[in-house]
Amino acid sequence: MMFDLRDLYQQVIVDHNKSPRNFHVMANATCMAEGFNPLCGDKLTLYLKLDSEKVIRDISFEGSGCAISTASASLMTEQLKGRTLDEAESLFSRFHDMVTSDPTVEADTKGLDKLAVLGGIREFPSRIKCATLCWHTLNAALAGDESASTE
Ligand code: ZN
Repeated sequence: MMFDLRDLYQQVIVDHNKSPRNFHVMANATCMAEGFNPLCGDKLTLYLKLDSEKVIRDISFEGSGCAISTASASLMTEQLKGRTLDEAESLFSRFHDMVTSDPTVEADTKGLDKLAVLGGIREFPSRIKCATLCWHTLNAALAGDESASTE
């Protein structure tokens, strides 16, 4: 029997869209930002709780958007809990490289763990901003900006 990795990836995206993790408003967030992707209409608010050591102790989001933007934000919050800001930055850089890489060569998913399920986005350039919106919003929140737009 053929095992199709793309089917598995698709299932994970559908699951995270249907039941997004860490999907709630956070009281006492240490920073937050709103993100907007006008190309698709995706909107989200990201909340973070950082400790004095710059470790992400808690992270959550709320909003409405397409399946890719919701699943991406859900997967991102799952990956970032307990990580340092340096680790978060390097994860975004790897993730960004993956989703913008040449779709005809095998994706480099090293260190990306479950975020690798979004590698298929490479074949749909118009959806890349759906997948990266949550990360741009994270950067805005950490920079002290109140909002981020992909345009
Ligand atoms: Zn979208």
